[in-house]
Parts: sequence; structure tokens; C-alpha cells
Amino acid sequence: MKRNERNDYNYIRKTVVSDTINVDIPVTYTKEARQAMHDLLTIEKSMHATVIEWNDIRKEYCIGYAPGRRQEQENADIDVIMSGLRKTDYTWNGYKKPEETTTNNNDEKEMEETTMKTTTTNKTGYDVSKLTDAMRIREASGEVTFHAPRGNDKTGIIPCWNLLPVVTCKGLCPGCYALKNAFRCGYDVNKSSVLKAWTDNTILAKTDIEGLYEKLDEYFSSMAAPRYFRIHASGDFFSKAYAYMWFRIAQNHPETRFLAFTKQFDNVRGIPFCKLDNFSLVLSAWPGKPIPEDLTELYSVAWMQDGTEDRIPEKVFECPGNCQTCGACWTLSKEGRDVCFHKH
Ligand code: SF4
Repeated sequence: MKRNERNDYNYIRKTVVSDTINVDIPVTYTKEARQAMHDLLTIEKSMHATVIEWNDIRKEYCIGYAPGRRQEQENADIDVIMSGLRKTDYTWNGYKKPEETTTNNNDEKEMEETTMKTTTTNKTGYDVSKLTDAMRIREASGEVTFHAPRGNDKTGIIPCWNLLPVVTCKGLCPGCYALKNAFRCGYDVNKSSVLKAWTDNTILAKTDIEGLYEKLDEYFSSMAAPRYFRIHASGDFFSKAYAYMWFRIAQNHPETRFLAFTKQFDNVRGIPFCKLDNFSLVLSAWPGKPIPEDLTELYSVAWMQDGTEDRIPEKVFECPGNCQTCGACWTLSKEGRDVCFHKH
């Protein structure tokens, strides 16, 4: 599948029963498709899946979860897996095994360790351990609440949804500008409205994904729903479950055009953002860092020219710097072009 292709696909009905998920596969799937389903369920590491029944009449799978798997992830994970199955006129048109990933970004401990590690490696001069401190302080206060998205200096009236940098993006960018914004009113989370909003929204995203979905669904259902929306001027898709929540939001709100840049390639892989006409997912390239080819076939790339980047295609769109009057990034993938930012 290449950029701009929009294949029909069906979600497969699922029911969650305590620790297992029963999946009914439509009888219209070909034998090859069912074999691919079998492969998907058994090789996808994060599923810990075991096919315990494959009945040719009902096509039913039961998936057992390894101890410790979180119930809240199950819906998202199963849909991500299902979305990998494409069906065109009831024939199976090819399936590639997903690359194995060794990273589980959903793991809180790993995130904390990453944050602490970044404390010593981040070149911004900010004490990033204050971000996890802010989360602890807000969680202990019992006052965590949803903060509605707002515009910023670059997007103008176009609202943005932000999460804490580093704890959701692993601090991948040298000289992260989001850190500057997070701490522009100091380290005290109770005195900085920006830090408080980003911290609360991060806590909700990590601990109550369905609650957050409902809040955002309400926001996009309101009269004030924006025509253009930017996900993550700060932060990134820290887990597949979180990325899939945004897929569901965009799917349910076709009147809004969504834009997200990401460096969390493993967490967006397999989620069919490219099938949504109102979602522009753009892969952020950093000089010297590889970008997975399976994703560049589907999505546009945002290049960063720091004087060393030599992979930028000729026909690239140069960012003029004001989203409110430009808006090009919201249609990049549709037009099959990349964008270039200049480091300044
Ligand atoms: S290219 Fe346009 S829409 Fe994209 S970031 Fe730059 S100003 Fe904003």
C-alpha cells in the first residue's frame, strides 16, 4: 500500500470477556487471510497471543493474555492487530509480518528510567527530572483534570493538544523547544498553568485512556470544535493504545482535520491513520537518524535542515513558519509531499 491509497477494511467484531478476547472472523475471509490472522495473533509479541481454537465454521480465536497484561490495553491492541488485515473484494492481497519491536513504551518504569537518563544527557540545561516530580505532585493532589486544547505562538487560533515532553517522547530531540515552553514559568507545577495543563493531560493519557477519550470526544462534538487541530506541539504518541485513541477520535470527527508529527514510529506502526481522509500523520526526521521505509511508503516526512541533512527530496515544501496562514501540513500526505524546517 502506498501513500494516498484508501482501501476498505472491516474491523472484526470483538468481545472482551475477563482475561480473554474472543474474535469472530467474518466467513468472507479467504483461507490465506485466515492464515495471516493466525500468524498475526501468534507472532505479535505484545499480544502474548495463543490461538486455542480455529474453527472453520465460526472462525473464532481466543487470545490468552500473559499475566500482568493490562485490561485497558486490550481493546486498542486488538484493533491495531485487526487493522493490519485488509480485505478487498474478499481476497487477501498480501501481508507482511510486522517487524519485531523490543520496546514497550507503555511501561511506566521504563519511561521514568528514560527520563532520569535524559537528565544527564539533555543539552537544554533544564532539569527534566522536574517533569516526573510535577506528575507526582499533581497525582498526589487529587486535582488532576482535563485541560482543553489551546493555540500557541506558531499555530495561532488552531488549537493544540500537548503532553509533557521527554516523559512521552523520550527526549529524542537535542535542544527540545517544548522543554523551554514547559518551564517558561519555572519548575513549580502549581504556579505554571502550562506545566500544570501538560502534566494533568499526561497523567490522564497514561492512567485513564477511556476517560480521556470521552473528554476529547465531548470537545470535538461541541459547537466550538475546530476545523484544524494539531496533536502534540509538545509530546508524542507514547504507546499504541494512546495513538489508537487518537485514531478513534479522528475517525469519529471527520469535520476536523488532524495533524500530528511523530518520532515514535513503533507506536504508530499498524494503526491505519493513512486510511483517514482527515488525518495527516507526518514522520519527523532528525539529521542522521534513520526513518523506517515501511512508514515512509505511507506517510510524509518532516525534514530538519541543520546544514548536514542530505536526504531531503528536491520537491519539498519549505515551512514559512505560520500555520494559521499556511496550513500545508494538514494535507501533506494527501498530496504526497514532504515538508522541510530549517534549524535556527
Ligand atoms: S509548513 Fe505551514 S502548516 Fe506546516 S508547520 Fe510550517 S507553517 Fe505550519
